[in-house]
Amino acid sequence: MSGENNTSINRRKFISQVTVATGAAFSLVSPLTGIAAAFIPVQERITVGQVMDLFMKEVPGAPLANTVDTLKSGNRDVVVTGIITTMFATVEVIRKAIALGANFIIAHEPTFYNHQDETAWLEKDDVYRYKADLLKKHNIVVWRNHDHIHRVRPDGVRKGLADQLGWQQFEDSNHVIYNLSQAMTLKALIGDLKQKLNIEAVRYIGDPGQQCRKVLLLPGAAGGKSQIQRVMDTQPDVLVCGEVSEWETAEYVRDARAAGKSLALIVLGHIASEEPGSEFMAKWLRDKFPTIKTTHVPTGSSLSFL
Ligand SMILES: [Zn+2]
Repeated sequence: MSGENNTSINRRKFISQVTVATGAAFSLVSPLTGIAAAFIPVQERITVGQVMDLFMKEVPGAPLANTVDTLKSGNRDVVVTGIITTMFATVEVIRKAIALGANFIIAHEPTFYNHQDETAWLEKDDVYRYKADLLKKHNIVVWRNHDHIHRVRPDGVRKGLADQLGWQQFEDSNHVIYNLSQAMTLKALIGDLKQKLNIEAVRYIGDPGQQCRKVLLLPGAAGGKSQIQRVMDTQPDVLVCGEVSEWETAEYVRDARAAGKSLALIVLGHIASEEPGSEFMAKWLRDKFPTIKTTHVPTGSSLSFL
């Protein structure tokens, strides 16, 4: 399953058994780290690498040559004691993992504040050090699953979102347009999205009373050009996106309205729009690894409204 040779698997089994025999003192220096791992029966031991490999098997073209989906902490050989799925491995999420006895966090977005998770520029920073040390001290593995979950078919994030909205049956063959069964006002649509996605407030452009039926749904931060291109290609009533560049897409929508179109925009927030992908991931893990306790811990928005 993991593509490792028998020797390394046998060696691992041996170490696992030794870990059980000698207890916590040994497990602190073992690659199969985690005191809790010592209490998992040998036949149920599943490593981080095994979980990653099985997911990648579902992804056309995987393993990907250039990907940000690397381990941000820990290594493949760690025996999994529990899994957290989430949007960001925030300090709060890490603490929750510790409290739950889970040593494997699968996050959709970066851990260290930039797309590639480069850390050299952060080495002396207190915030970086605090987080990196917390992960190390508690032997927590963090794997980013971004490129892969977006490449499963259907896209796992989109599927999770459509499931949560109850919109699967409205999905067009282009996978980005949802033709609602009946038109609703922009205000009603916003209310529906807030309620189903548990969002406190959204930003929008448009007339709250205007009718919306054809929805272009682009979770995450697709980028201005990509969002605008999709709008041009599909001519929706409303673009519903995660994150927007104010100086790109929002200005396009403003000009479109001034030019006589009724195009509207709803900005859900990046996290709110993609968090359902972590629920998709949690369901997949529970299905494939029923002996591992998997918990979806929503990251929640970093930003508040006042
Ligand atoms: Zn995403």
